[in-house]
Amino acid sequence: MSNPFNLEGKVALVTGGNTGLGQGMAVALAEAGADIVVAGRSSAADTGKAVEALGRRFFEVKADFSDPSCVDGVVAETVEKAGSIDILVNNAGIIRRNDAIDFTEDDWDSVMDVNIKSAFFLCQAAAKRMIPAGGGKIINIASMLSFQGGIRVASYTSSKSAIAGLTKLLANEWAAKGINVNAIAPGYFATNNTAALQADEDRNKQILERIPAGRWGDPKDLGGAAVFLASSAADYVQGTVLAVDGGWLAR
Ligand code: NAP
Repeated sequence: MSNPFNLEGKVALVTGGNTGLGQGMAVALAEAGADIVVAGRSSAADTGKAVEALGRRFFEVKADFSDPSCVDGVVAETVEKAGSIDILVNNAGIIRRNDAIDFTEDDWDSVMDVNIKSAFFLCQAAAKRMIPAGGGKIINIASMLSFQGGIRVASYTSSKSAIAGLTKLLANEWAAKGINVNAIAPGYFATNNTAALQADEDRNKQILERIPAGRWGDPKDLGGAAVFLASSAADYVQGTVLAVDGGWLAR
């Protein structure tokens, strides 16, 4: 029986795949058989070693998503190096923290440029390749703050709520063109992005008390969801925002 989760012969572009959740998903996709392209501003050599150790091809594309005009070049270079783009994981993201009353325009724009503007135009650039090729899979990385308000993170909550809406819009427009557009909403994962929360004793305790699973997520915990949504097992899954949160939203 053929394995619907097999990604052999597919090329996955993972933004921000040098560390954290992006690295966890890139390695999981490679374990399922995909070749991996990581786009970002820091060296992804560690991810490359892990992917190549699994017998998969690995390529890097230098990109700074604070300038959304780079995305067409990123997708073109992906196809040039790896031969196609079958899967896009829009993972690169940043967060800025301040009280809403003091929030600056720079803290707004810098988060929106990376988390939503570059993500949308990457979806568009990838879809321009995927549609003529017969389809593809797009996975956007959302957040608990796609569902909840959060506190002191005005631009982050806005960007992640926008990602959830955009995922549904793109699913509506592109499902009939063979592209599955879905999102993963990670709960609280131990990465650079949450270092400030982990270091704050009170916030760390509050967060752990609220997670039914009783622990922070590990980047490996996202692998199964990423492989599923990237695979033909998810061919009829469209516009969903899949929470991988140790039960956070259930509480
Ligand atoms: P992370 O370790 O800080 O990783 C963020 C990634 O995005 C890094 O690869 C980073 O590159 C890249 N990036 C940031 N700005 C960039 C830019 N201007 N150009 C290119 N790459 C850029 O955090 P993470 O937790 O793995 O976050 C990954 C995604 O998951 C983000 O979208 C985040 O919002 C989301 N998320 C995380 C959690 C969590 O609990 N950790 C929960 C929900 C959602 P550098 O290494 O060069 O900075």
